[in-house]
Amino acid sequence: SIPLGYFGGIGLASRSGILFKGSNFLDVMTTINTVIMDKTGTLTKGVFNVQEVITDGIDQKELVRITAAIESNSTHPIAKAVVAYAGDSLGDLKAKDVQEISGHGLKGDVEGKTVVAGNSKLLKKFNIAYPGEVDQLVDTVVVVAINGKYAGYLTIADEIKEDAKQAIDQMHSLKIQTIMLSGDKQAVVDKVAKRLGIDKAFGDLLPDGKVQKVQEFKNSGNRIAFVGDGVNDAPVVALADAGIAMGGLGSDATIETADIVIQNDQPSKITAAIKIGRITKQIVW
Ligand code: ADP
Ligand code: MG
Repeated sequence: SIPLGYFGGIGLASRSGILFKGSNFLDVMTTINTVIMDKTGTLTKGVFNVQEVITDGIDQKELVRITAAIESNSTHPIAKAVVAYAGDSLGDLKAKDVQEISGHGLKGDVEGKTVVAGNSKLLKKFNIAYPGEVDQLVDTVVVVAINGKYAGYLTIADEIKEDAKQAIDQMHSLKIQTIMLSGDKQAVVDKVAKRLGIDKAFGDLLPDGKVQKVQEFKNSGNRIAFVGDGVNDAPVVALADAGIAMGGLGSDATIETADIVIQNDQPSKITAAIKIGRITKQIVW
């Protein structure tokens, strides 16, 4: 039989918008010493906005229109930002033969031209040269190449969630080590980590790279809670001792796989979940 305290803990959590999928996870949360978090959508809002358009040998509006035509084939938050920015200028321009390359971006055909749009890793993949400044920028970028030649880039920004700093501070006062993982470029990842005071941050990770990192921290004896929201996060959520999903904007696969779901997406609920676990344990034992 399950002790009464567990029901109290689950009830308390659910009233705070934290869904525990089993009473055992209250216990698991008391054992966590490391919280590993995804960046986009977990610590940041995951809603990007185009800031600047830099071009090389092409009209600005034209670059935006072509990029948006490709990006309208993707549901990635970066793609949504580009399509929104293009607005009516896109008209009924459509891309053909579009391929999405996970962790990189897109390739397709627009008006007979081969267009590549994504991060600098994607251009490297296709052996397309681009200006060195692109990798130095502390903003997320979409670099674009047309017919195998660099044509410019769009800088896009996301905002840190209001309670993210408070959440990280609370984890540190609970003696929990904080780690951030991201597929975004290292310069952006470092900027966010510094603002939030996160212990360690790893960028430029492909979905497999995230799994590997979590496995490494697990192998060195840590007890891991992983918090994510994206489609690619489900395998890491499954691997962690406690898999936590941001439920608001989160993908169905991640929510399904998670042990705990944070309904309103606030990072401060991660520490709330740990505290509720600890309180419940005191009641039970
Ligand atoms: P994360 O969710 O950690 O940012 P993703 O695997 O979703 O990781 O994406 C990693 C990177 O790949 C993004 O930061 C971006 O640079 C690039 N990328 C992925 N999809 C797209 C896309 N549709 N358009 C442009 N860039 C993309
Ligand atoms: Mg993602």
